[in-house]
Formats: sequence, structure tokens, C-alpha cells
Amino acid sequence: MLRPRHATLLALALLCVPAQAQRGRCGAPEPVFSAAAVPADCGYLTNSPQPEYEPTCTYEIPVVFHVIQSTSGAGFLSAATIQEQIDVLNEDFLALPGSLGAPGTNSSIRFRLATTAPDGSATTGITYSTNNSWFQDSGAYWNTLAWDTNRYMNVYTNAVPCCFGYVADFPSNGIVGQARDRIVLWWEAVGRQPTAGWPLNRGRTATHEAGHYLGLYHTFCGGCGSATDCYGTGDLICDTNREQSSTSGCPGSKSSCASADPIHNYMDYTDDPCLWEFTPEQVNRMRCTLENWRVDLSPTAVAQQTVRAGTPSNPLALLPGQTSGPSLGAVWDPVVDHTTFEPSATVDFLLLSLSSINVPAGAKGTLLCDVPFLLVLQNNAPGTPFPLAIPVVSELLGFPFCVQAASSSAPGQFRLTNALDCVFGN
Ligand SMILES: [Zn+2]
Repeated sequence: MLRPRHATLLALALLCVPAQAQRGRCGAPEPVFSAAAVPADCGYLTNSPQPEYEPTCTYEIPVVFHVIQSTSGAGFLSAATIQEQIDVLNEDFLALPGSLGAPGTNSSIRFRLATTAPDGSATTGITYSTNNSWFQDSGAYWNTLAWDTNRYMNVYTNAVPCCFGYVADFPSNGIVGQARDRIVLWWEAVGRQPTAGWPLNRGRTATHEAGHYLGLYHTFCGGCGSATDCYGTGDLICDTNREQSSTSGCPGSKSSCASADPIHNYMDYTDDPCLWEFTPEQVNRMRCTLENWRVDLSPTAVAQQTVRAGTPSNPLALLPGQTSGPSLGAVWDPVVDHTTFEPSATVDFLLLSLSSINVPAGAKGTLLCDVPFLLVLQNNAPGTPFPLAIPVVSELLGFPFCVQAASSSAPGQFRLTNALDCVFGN
């Protein structure tokens, strides 16, 4: 089902007007390139990817869905359908194995329905309203319905006549904190098997609009732009090829600007089943946006631990001991399973490091954690836990560190194992 794209919001655009859309997927405004530049790594008109924005810790964004219905009952969405949409967002943003989004980049940004309302009460993260004007996306319904846009991603569903969905503006253009800061989705395009059917049958309209919400522009923004200034023209991203115009349908290939078009990128207009990618630089810009423009949206870090094997491969001999990860206030007790790689060990060591770069350490293993080490713990009874009581100190939240195990059967001789990349959570 095709819907005509409405041009009202696009009247704002001066230089970055998209080519004529065939699908009307998105009614988000384009950045206005005559506006004053805002100095930031992920600014309105510029971008500068930085290593600090790489996906080390997980951000979790609380979402509230405002379901707007007509008096005839059109627009109803069940809690199950909305949860499906949250699931699709997580598949795409986390590139979850086995999902359609698996080929993409894991942004370590995930979404959940809010469980606490602004007044502190328990909530499902879903509100229902009936209003025929609001259902047609008319009237400033957000002034009535919005939850604090600093702390919640507000998503509205209605008949949105302009398009399949839109954002009102971009976070780096000053909208954060205003009631009108929102994502709007055509209600029939919500969920994994939405009413609209093909080509909107995979819930990727929400993925696309969430990309805008976190500071991304269309891959075809500004057409071919400048070949030598990809952080200052077009979509401000260098690892998405320049693209002359939006992509319709699901072509086998398409090229413009002397390179293959990024037709599988969520920020193009390709059909839902053909979308599966944010690039690493898009992820960098989204996480930068969270850290600089939407700072109150995801204030809590999620504990996590990732096993990293060295080269040559080390035995997977460091057992985290707990599946919950290192959490503030908890006892975290990793174990060196020395029996798999150093059967004659008489002592185990645990090495904790502040950073996590590769340092070759000779034939007995690969030192994966950087030196110097923050802490070296010796356990004289091989195979027993290293109980670490993690204090409740807010500065630790989201702090990344590295843990590596070593065993020794003779003084001065170590066998190094795999490492764990960890992040403190709560
Ligand atoms: Zn869009």
C-alpha cells in the first residue's frame, strides 16, 4: 500500500531536499544547511566520530507508546503488537543473531517499554486515547500526552496522513525537552506483521524513525554532496556511500555518485525486508547523540561481560561465575578454570585492567588486557572463586574494565587465558 508523501514538513529544507519519494516512508524534516553550525562531535551540520563513542556499554532507552484511536475504533494496537515492535527495534539495533537485522552493526543501544511513569507509578509503557482530530495527526496532542521527553522516547501512533512516520525535528536542533519531541508512526505499520502488509511488513518504519531520533539523516540527504567532505555534507557519515536519491522497492543493486548505493541501510527508503544495516559510523553518531544531546534518556548502564579470545586462541578458562555481570552492590566471583589449560597449576591469578588493548605476551598466551594492571589478585587455591564485592559508587556505572586470568605451576611462569571485557551496571 502506497501513501503519498506530504510536503509540509519538508518546506523547512533549503539545501537538503530529498529526491521525490516513491514510497512516502518518512516525513521527517531534512536538516537545514543554512542554519548556524553547532560545535559538537555529532552536531546538526557536522560529524566527527570519536573512539569514546564506540559501543562499549549498553544504553537502554525507556519508551512510551501513545496509541491514538478514532471514535470508530480504528488505530487500536494491542500490548502484544507494541512489544513486537520493541522486539524488532532491538533485533535491528543490536544486530541480534538469527534476526533480519543480524548483518548490521551492534549498536549496544536497546529499547524497553517504560515500567515507571513520570509520577513514579507503575506502568505498561502504553497509553490509549480516543480523539478523531489527534487520530488524523492534527492538534498539538503532545501537549496533553507527552511524558518528559528528556527521560522517555515518546512514540505516537495514529493515521498520520503525510507518510508512514516522522520525527518532529532532530535532537541537535534543540527539540529535546520540548513536548513536541516525538516519533509518529502510522498505526498500520507497527509491529512484526503490521496491518499495512508489504512492503511495511517488518516493523522497520520504527527503526528508521528511531535512527532520526538519535541524530541520523537519510543516506540520500543532499544527493551526492561532496566527495571530499563526507562529515560535513550529505548524511554526515563517511562509511555510507554517497547516494543521489532514495531507493524504492528492493533492487538487486543500485549505484550513483560513482559507487554502490547503501540500499540496505535503515536510513534509505528500501522495502522493509531489504533493510538490515546501520554502519559503524552511524552507530558512533547515535551513541554520541545519546551522550551529548539526550543525556537524561539512558542514565543507567547495564552490566555486561563479553568473552574475548586471543591469538593464538587461548582456552576459555575464565568463568565469570555469575551470569548477571558485575553490578554495583553485588559480589562478583569469577573463577579461573585452570584445569583446562594448566593442569599442574598451584596458584591462580586474576588481573584487572582499566583498558583493553591487545599486547602480545609470548608463546604462552596473549595478554588481552592493557598494562599496568589496576589490581592483581592471587588465589592460592586453584579453581576457587575470586569474590569481589563491588561498592555502590555511582561513578562506577558504565565504567569499562578488563579481566584476565592466569595460572602458574612454577614461580614466574604464567599461562594466560581469554579475557572478559566488562562494564559495571546496576
Ligand atoms: Zn526518514
